[in-house]
Order: sequence, then structure tokens, then C-alpha cells
Amino acid sequence: MSEAPHDAEARRAVPPVICYPTDTLPRPDLELYSQALASAEVVDVVTVAPREAATFRMPAGQFFRIVSVEGPQVGDLNLWNAANLTERFYSGKTRALHGTHLTTGERMWSCFPYLRPMATIVADSLDWYGIDSFGGSVHDVIGTRCDPYTGNLLSGTQYHHCCHSNLTRALCDATGLPLHEAERHVHDVLNVFMCTGFTRDTGQYFMKASPVRPGDALTLFAEIDLLGALSACPGGDCSAEHSSDTAACFPLRVEILRPDAQALTGWQPPAPNGYDRSHGR
Ligand SMILES: [Zn+2]
Repeated sequence: MSEAPHDAEARRAVPPVICYPTDTLPRPDLELYSQALASAEVVDVVTVAPREAATFRMPAGQFFRIVSVEGPQVGDLNLWNAANLTERFYSGKTRALHGTHLTTGERMWSCFPYLRPMATIVADSLDWYGIDSFGGSVHDVIGTRCDPYTGNLLSGTQYHHCCHSNLTRALCDATGLPLHEAERHVHDVLNVFMCTGFTRDTGQYFMKASPVRPGDALTLFAEIDLLGALSACPGGDCSAEHSSDTAACFPLRVEILRPDAQALTGWQPPAPNGYDRSHGR
């Protein structure tokens, strides 16, 4: 290891600066969304089987609610613009804007060149959890999704029910795309109900038993027309291991809710990002 300079402590003591202060970020009208949600009725229900994924669609202005049923279970969520699969959820930029874990009022942003809100969290029954003494919290955008490639790299396995494969099969079935083309559209997820963080001493990504219990729910408002896919992770509550059939796994339920026709009067879906894309040329 290199020798520390004489002013090492002083350099470490420099206070951090928030990369992206969010004071100028367009704010969702949570009051309007809450009122619309209060008037909404369930128009579709999709059940995600354990170690499988399922897709669901809704137009802008509806809500979707992910509900824990039967037992503690983590879900891996992908979102696409329903009319254009190349506009998809951008976990990394969402993390840079909102931090490592999402809760009420925060949004799932789409990739470049769109960079606009795809969905806004309007209710989170686990918002009481906060950040625990290990630095863990729920609904992260720091993980990727469990996948068979990392499993193969670390253990030489051929496991087919990781979230990556579950999402790939579900998207394939929903769109008719060949398997390997569908796979290219699968992306880093919002880890719904998963409790994760980075260890303080080594900075490693950790998971721990999710605090989710049956009846807990995360409710989001669709800002644009959406195609969603949710995988019931083979890790179950992610208390021990994933990428295998070892953990107890439970289904997840997705409810699609349609608000009253008048509830969103005056509201418009967000336009794609305003950057002119000339890149200095
Ligand atoms: Zn998973």
C-alpha cells in the first residue's frame, strides 16, 4: 500500500458535495396524484409466480401497485415506454438523482436521450424503515438484477430462473421478440422490497432479509405509457442466497388502477428531455 501523505487526514476531512442537488428537479404534484389514487379502481391484476416474471401494461395516468402476498418476497422491476423499448428505466441516473434507495415522491427516470420520469412512487408502506444501522434500506437502485452470467463466472452454474432470465422470457412472451433480442432490452432494475446497502468497511454490496410482509405495497403513477415486467426473485426475501432454488419464494401481485376520468384534468405526460442533442457539432 502507498504511504499516506502528511495531510491525509485533512484531505479526508473535506466535506462532501451533493453531485446533483434536486432543488431544480421538476417536482411531481403528489397532491394531485393522491387525489387521483383515492378515486382509482383496480382494472387488472397480474400474479407473478415465484422464480418467474410477468408483464403488465398501462397508459399514462394510471397507477400500478406491487403487493407482497403470502410471504416476504423481493421483486425486480423493469420498465419500458410501451411504444418504444429503447426508452427504458435508467437505474444509474435515478441513483445519482435520488440516492441509493427510492421512496414516496421519487421517480424512475428513463435512459438517454429521453431522461424523463417514467413512474413516480406515490405510496410506500415500507417508508418507516429508513436507513438501518448497517446502512441498509429498501427499494434499491444500487443492485443490478441476479443473472446467470455472474453465477457462471463465480460458480460455473447454469441456473435459468435468475431475474435476468425471468425478465427475458416474460418480455419475449409479451412482445414476440426472439429470446436473444428480448434479452438485450432487459436492464438494471428497481429492487422492490429488497433490503440492501454497502458495507462500511469494504464497500461491498450486501443484502439482508427484507422487512416486507404480506400486505405491504409500493404504488407508482405511470407518467408515460408503460410496459412493465416484474420478477419474483429466486432469492425470496434475499436473507441468504439467490441464483438457486434454495430460498423460500412467494408470488407477488401487481394491480393496475385507473383513476376517475376527471381526476387528472390539466395533467400532461412529461415530454422527452429538452437537450438539443447537437453535442457541440
Ligand atoms: Zn433476482
